[in-house]
Amino acid sequence: MQSVAVIGSGPTGIYFLKAMLESEIKFNIALFDQAAALGTGMPYTTNLNSKQMLANIASIEIPILLESYCTWLQKLSDYQLENYELNKGNIAERGFYPRTLLGKYFQDQLIEIIKLLIAKGHKINIQNNSFVRNVDYLNGKFELRVHSYNFIKQILTYDHVVMATGHYYDKAIDSGNLMASPWPYKKLNKIRNCKVGILGTSLSAIDAFVAVAHNNGSFIENETGELAYNLNPNVSQLDITMMSRKGILPEADFFCPLPYEPLEIFTEELVQNFIDHCQSDLLDETVDYH
Ligand SMILES: Cc1cc2nc3c(=O)[nH]c(=O)nc-3n(C[C@H](O)[C@H](O)[C@H](O)COP(=O)(O)OP(=O)(O)OC[C@H]3O[C@@H](n4cnc5c(N)ncnc54)[C@H](O)[C@@H]3O)c2cc1C
Repeated sequence: MQSVAVIGSGPTGIYFLKAMLESEIKFNIALFDQAAALGTGMPYTTNLNSKQMLANIASIEIPILLESYCTWLQKLSDYQLENYELNKGNIAERGFYPRTLLGKYFQDQLIEIIKLLIAKGHKINIQNNSFVRNVDYLNGKFELRVHSYNFIKQILTYDHVVMATGHYYDKAIDSGNLMASPWPYKKLNKIRNCKVGILGTSLSAIDAFVAVAHNNGSFIENETGELAYNLNPNVSQLDITMMSRKGILPEADFFCPLPYEPLEIFTEELVQNFIDHCQSDLLDETVDYH
């Protein structure tokens, strides 16, 4: 049996595993993630993101795993939805919901996909809490250096490797009140009743803004649906400035027509042609194609 190591269990890793359900060939699959909980990736994990941080992708845009995000949301109990200030009546396929809730969808779908892969005869070895430190290609095999959180170091070999490692954010640059990123969100809790400058006006800046606003006050919706923001009683000095070089905000809307129109240039046939004829640099050749 050929072996494949998947490094990263976020959306990229999950969509890869979903594609493996189509494979006629059985594989020995090892799934590595440095995190304890699999399936949420970086933007959707509860460790780094607060409930107020919203996804800017709606159900209609998310390629279906085993069921659509909207269908999955509808199956949650009233209690589970209430926890995110949602109810079954206001779930819509174009709605934007907390990123940590989207993480739970990915996590649930991953579990179901793993069960299906096992049922189809693949072997699955799950290695959470396992940081892949290095990948070498030696004598036709990939050699992975893996450090587990219980300090065990392993060298493991595989026939194939899928890098699904996604985002890297530098935790070391924070210096006192100068924060290099708004994650993990808990560090923003110390920002109370003061002046705050946010460099940027895009999605990460909105994350920071929303988290600080929630820590210093509350958003209240009246009966007519109007939203007001009230400062907490002990807060009088909160003053948040977002700074942008270009003065633009991200568009919380769709860039392409939905449902997607059939591709005319970058078709599956074209990609297959590259796979069949490229000797090397397959990714570069494909992406550079005009
Ligand atoms: C803050 C933020 C918010 C975002 N919000 C949205 C959004 O609302 N909508 C949207 O469409 N996109 C959003 N994105 C874009 C995001 O890139 C994708 O949605 C998606 O998370 C990418 O999935 P991924 O699996 O490639 O990477 P990730 O989600 O980052 O997952 C990578 C996984 O690999 C693991 N990993 C990394 N390195 C190693 C290693 N060496 N060893 C072992 N495990 C490792 C990580 O622990 C993680 O679980 C956001 C990105 C960020 C940074």
